[in-house]
Amino acid sequence: MTLTARPLLSRLWFNLAPTLPLVLALCAGCKLAAAPQALLARYEFVHPLMGVPFRLVFYAPDTNVAQRAAAAAFDRVRQLNSHLSDYEPDSELSRLSASAGSGRAVRLESDLWGLLRTSHRLYKRSHGAFDITVGPYVDLWKRARRQRELPSRAALERASHAVGCMFLRLDPSRRTAELLRPRMRLDLGGIAKGYAADAALRVLRHHGLRHALVAASGDIVCGDPPPGARGWRIELPDLPVPGSPKPEALLLANRAVSTSGDTEQRLDLDGRRYSHIIDPRSGQALTDHRLVLVVARDATTSDSLATALSVLATTEALRLARATPGVEARLLILGPGSPPAARETPGFPTLPRAQNLQPR
Ligand code: AMP
Ligand code: MG
Repeated sequence: MTLTARPLLSRLWFNLAPTLPLVLALCAGCKLAAAPQALLARYEFVHPLMGVPFRLVFYAPDTNVAQRAAAAAFDRVRQLNSHLSDYEPDSELSRLSASAGSGRAVRLESDLWGLLRTSHRLYKRSHGAFDITVGPYVDLWKRARRQRELPSRAALERASHAVGCMFLRLDPSRRTAELLRPRMRLDLGGIAKGYAADAALRVLRHHGLRHALVAASGDIVCGDPPPGARGWRIELPDLPVPGSPKPEALLLANRAVSTSGDTEQRLDLDGRRYSHIIDPRSGQALTDHRLVLVVARDATTSDSLATALSVLATTEALRLARATPGVEARLLILGPGSPPAARETPGFPTLPRAQNLQPR
């Protein structure tokens, strides 16, 4: 396998020290005893996985250890993708979707079970704003983006019969899931990348590499900070509000951060912009052009919550963020119809860049 270093084009990014040129051949993983910090060097690996450049940055005692750990972390993400992707017809997720309406409960073997339970809990806590059964609506809006034409009312109405987590029956005693309505389709696009980033960070830890960061486009999870630093510096998009400090950054250790918004995948039509995030309660793509940032203890939480907070009304979104332990959130509301505004939870942890540590 060959890994290549590439610039990360993302809504969040972290500052990079002069990077090692990386075109590295990798092999299988092994464990490593803790090494003195002074002997650690910085490594960076990027590999396209789950449709985004998956980036690992960590400090390791030597190149062999770094290569083995990176290979194992990427293998784990690849394995997760093969279970959780709705693009792979043979994935466990696709097989579950194919059973919709058959009256058959499917026993789940992989990480999918845990993710369905986590997603179901957030469905309830967000009053339906986060809903992994949104697949039939997502399909209609994907086609709308391709054809540059809004989905018809009739098509949205038909899809509505196959959307709703109340039609996803989970049985913890047998570890089975059943999709009660025909044509239901699960979509983990709002949570799987964060989950995979967490999993990759755990693999690096397992290899003894604690000073590590994993970035999957807009979902980033950090372990211990770089040796001698207080945290990993992650720069934030500018606030569109006059007088706000620019640029801003987060300094994170053992925390995750995710963004959700319509900056990348969207449909611009007749002066409106339609996001790739759908309000599952109406089937409509979001049009209020919001950018959401969530800091949490892990990327599974930050990723899924960022999607949920994009859908909810501002007050409800901030309430849900405050009610989630370890979470801080910022909502940038960019229009249309009102001047740009930023709302955030009281502890949102930014620093103006000048106060940050020097890049390492
Ligand atoms: P993110 O970019 O993490 O906010 O995730 C957006 C992706 O999640 C979309 O591309 C869909 O695959 C899926 N999705 C869209 N709307 C929702 C929603 N309301 N709840 C859960 N997943 C969604
Ligand atoms: Mg998300």
